[in-house]
Amino acid sequence: MTATDDLIAAAEAHSAHNYHPLPVVVATADGAWMTDVEGRRYLDLLAGYSALNFGHGNRRLLDAARAQLERVTLTSRAFHHDRFGEFCAQLAQLCGMEMVLPMNTGAEAVETAVKTARKWGYRVKGVPAEMAKIVVAGGNFHGRTTTVISFSTDPEARADYGPYTPGFEIVPYGDLTAMRQAMTENTVAVLLEPIQGESGVIVPPEGYLPAVRELTRERNVLFVADEIQSGLGRTGRTFACEHEGVVPDVYVLGKALGGGILPVSAVVSSAAVLGVFRPGEHGSTFGGNPLACAVALEVIAMLRSGEYQARAAELGGHLHRELGALAGTGRVTAVRGRGLWAGVDIARAYGTGREVSEKLMDRGVLVKDTHGSTIRVAPPLTISKEDLDWGLDQLRAVLVG
Ligand SMILES: *Cc1c(COP(=O)(O)O)cnc(C)c1O
Repeated sequence: MTATDDLIAAAEAHSAHNYHPLPVVVATADGAWMTDVEGRRYLDLLAGYSALNFGHGNRRLLDAARAQLERVTLTSRAFHHDRFGEFCAQLAQLCGMEMVLPMNTGAEAVETAVKTARKWGYRVKGVPAEMAKIVVAGGNFHGRTTTVISFSTDPEARADYGPYTPGFEIVPYGDLTAMRQAMTENTVAVLLEPIQGESGVIVPPEGYLPAVRELTRERNVLFVADEIQSGLGRTGRTFACEHEGVVPDVYVLGKALGGGILPVSAVVSSAAVLGVFRPGEHGSTFGGNPLACAVALEVIAMLRSGEYQARAAELGGHLHRELGALAGTGRVTAVRGRGLWAGVDIARAYGTGREVSEKLMDRGVLVKDTHGSTIRVAPPLTISKEDLDWGLDQLRAVLVG
């Protein structure tokens, strides 16, 4: 038994099997690279599902975290702390919005957005009690809580968790007619990922997001954009919605907001929308804690420079030119995505995404498969062009031969 085998056996024996990790045991990481317990190095092309947009062990983020660790880490929202106002102001400004409601994980932020939309519906729009409806898209991924999986279309995510939360209408992603038909006077929000991440990096048809924006405005319905994975630089812009010139009513943020150090999420919107909350009506012990605010403030400062977005756009262009050349050759049936974010579909006959991931692991590249036959490529935005090219060489070797 190797150290790797022992550590995996211990994990398997004492953890719930709600994941099926690749058989690699990471010990350290730096930038776009991870090193396992046996000293083997791997290029990280998953980047913690975009939680690691700024890479592992980012100096600026570690310094910000360290400095705050020595000052104060948790107050709870029972008291004010000196990083909170600054964090809310800076995040609101980055989003072009007015107010922030901080939480921790993405799913909590989505829950918060659902509560926000419902409360806004009852208190502002005048929807009759208990009647609020939210329109969502098939193939969505918004997290794992019981309410959020209630409107999932993924049987694996949903099975045996009922009874499910009512109040959601599911329409096909990209289908505006179906969305229009699903709307009633009691519709309070449309909740969408501007690019569906877990579904396989699905980019909606051009013009869809602007049409949703127009329709929601017309019907006095909130457009809630879940930019937890697509936002904060990944696609080459701060927000994926920007590619189509769309400004939603509500942004839901998470993942990279915590700099890969700790979970930080938030709902960001106007005062007219987030102003519906009164003291005691919603909260979180850890939401908006000083350490989270300090790290997120550094993330925001880094994004304000625009350099990470520019890098994602430039390297993303390169990535898509290289991957695009593979589409329809060898084992690759399709490539989608935007910026430093791609979904690569593998021909069924060749094997599963899992098998491809294992072959890539043997070549020193870590990716994660999704939905059986897709692998996603989403390196840290800080990856060097040389490292990206090396990773692409490994992909080519496995997928084209
Ligand atoms: C990851 C993700 C979530 C859930 O975030 P957690 O931090 O895992 O709860 C929600 N929405 C989208 C689009 C995501 O990618």
